[in-house]
Amino acid sequence: MQSNCSHLHSIQGSSDDSSSSPSTHAARLSGESSCHQGGDVRIQLSSAVGEARESASSRHSRPGSQSRLHGHAHSEAAGVDDSTPDSEEHSSSSFSELRYLLQWLHKSLPYILILCVKVIMQHIIGISLGIGLLTTYMYANKSIINQVFLRERCSKLQCAWLLVYLTGSSLLLYYTFHSQSLYYSLIFLNPTVDFINFWEVLWIVGVTDFILKFLFMGFKCFILLVPSFMMSFKSKGYWYMLLEELCQYYRMFVPIPVWFRYLIGYGEPDSLLGRTLGILLALLYLILKLLSFFGQLRNFRQVLRIFCTRPHYGVTASKRQCSEVDDICSICQAEFQKPILLICQHIFCEECISLWFNREKTCPLCRTVISDHVNKWKDGATSMHLQIF
Ligand SMILES: [Zn+2]
Ligand SMILES: [Zn+2]
Repeated sequence: MQSNCSHLHSIQGSSDDSSSSPSTHAARLSGESSCHQGGDVRIQLSSAVGEARESASSRHSRPGSQSRLHGHAHSEAAGVDDSTPDSEEHSSSSFSELRYLLQWLHKSLPYILILCVKVIMQHIIGISLGIGLLTTYMYANKSIINQVFLRERCSKLQCAWLLVYLTGSSLLLYYTFHSQSLYYSLIFLNPTVDFINFWEVLWIVGVTDFILKFLFMGFKCFILLVPSFMMSFKSKGYWYMLLEELCQYYRMFVPIPVWFRYLIGYGEPDSLLGRTLGILLALLYLILKLLSFFGQLRNFRQVLRIFCTRPHYGVTASKRQCSEVDDICSICQAEFQKPILLICQHIFCEECISLWFNREKTCPLCRTVISDHVNKWKDGATSMHLQIF
């Protein structure tokens, strides 16, 4: 035992030499046995780093002893011996796991593709109908926005065609699947599907959402067909906005009975646990729907207020005020048409600034807040959002 200790002292002596690196130091220390006796030197080579630090600090209180240096040497040795190979091992093992996963994916790819084709074939009707509904929506939405933008130059024939197209698509869909009575879900009733599974719920909710969009798009086409002497373009803009907001709120409520029936487990074999869990999930769903309804109620009331009051963004500008700004509108860069003076004293054409407030709340020049609400649906657009839940 004494010989071990003296050997360690000789190691300490050599470590003072500048040519000796910590790694060689560690290499020499490893394999040495513990020395519990024999003066000031105490080294536990098998202990952890934390213990080594602890013992080093306890030894530090002894003046004149060399144990601190030994403790330090030990902690270095333990650090080299334990932590570095661990981290290397960890990174190499995670790398090999990733490589294994990639290899598995590479080998399984043909089988996954076969399964994907099988799943697509099983749901081919649903997928192709979904694509058809989406393209119909995109075509009708773009056409309505174009017709609204054209104002008095809008084509009545195009609007009538859109109306027929949307009505025809909806009726054809309901006629094809008349056995499922999908139209029941439009009026909060459940369609006649014997046993509702997840895919059937998605099918019913998705189809109903698109049909409701088509219905409100049809109303917008009706408004487009109304002659301008009966309803001004400005007034039509407010109607598009109200219709779109109404459509969104109605679509928010329509999926409730279908999801409620699915969550509560209607028609499934009865069991006490299943029934209790179903009721709990359905109640949670209803609470979430109520919260989202109250969250958007304020916005809906604001839209109703705007529709009823038709707020003015400013007053008609006088000829003198227009000539002060060279009679040029900053938006269209042309002579003012029905100039409007905003509260920030900037003047724009009435049409230009109305179009601007369909997207923004502030003055385009000085960024003063003029409106408290963006009238984003006044351009006749229909939201693309799919109300699944
Ligand atoms: Zn202008
Ligand atoms: Zn301004």
